[in-house]
Amino acid sequence: MALALKQMLSALTKMQVDLIINDNRSSMISVLERNRKYVRVSVHRMFLTSSNSVIIALADLLRNKRGREHNRVLRNFIDQSSIEYDSKHTLDKTKLISKGDFFDLEKLYEKVNREYFNSELNLSITWFGKKNRIPRTQITFGLYQDSFKLVKINRLLDQKETPSLFIEYIIYHEMLHEVYRPETNIRGYRRIHTATFREKEKEFLHYHDAKTWESSFKKVIFK
Ligand SMILES: [Zn+2]
Repeated sequence: MALALKQMLSALTKMQVDLIINDNRSSMISVLERNRKYVRVSVHRMFLTSSNSVIIALADLLRNKRGREHNRVLRNFIDQSSIEYDSKHTLDKTKLISKGDFFDLEKLYEKVNREYFNSELNLSITWFGKKNRIPRTQITFGLYQDSFKLVKINRLLDQKETPSLFIEYIIYHEMLHEVYRPETNIRGYRRIHTATFREKEKEFLHYHDAKTWESSFKKVIFK
């Protein structure tokens, strides 16, 4: 289905299209790269079952076409499909794993929730990934799946050497996504890390220590 969508978008835009399908509700459509003849875009899985009019609107957006009609079509589609998508996908909490070898995510989550959010957020948390899988060029420390209200932390961090404050910082960052929602500008681009988000992120008490540890960790694994 992804291939069919890619081919339709290529035909409509007359561009070479690299299509990435994501499950992340905070980036329904992200144009990652674009020039006159080429576009790389990541779209949510729900676009795989969209109608022709939605695909045409998506092509218009990829071509950077002026006018608001395609934005309206896309917005409506996203709103309607999100409701259906949420009702079909409920979170199986028995599959969540909070206890690691060195850190218990649930405890850290509760601490961050208490210290920064007045214990008002009601999210789930789990480890994801494999402990020994060292990525080559990029690492995703954490994710937030807003359809499930689920924070996911990379199991790679469950090591004796990881400072607790760093995991807390990643949890804090992901929790902020629940509070500071993505913003869509008039061209239909969704910004996930808005200026407000970045400001709030710096309110983490050990922000600079966390950032310093992050860059030294990356230097070691991407050497
Ligand atoms: Zn983020």
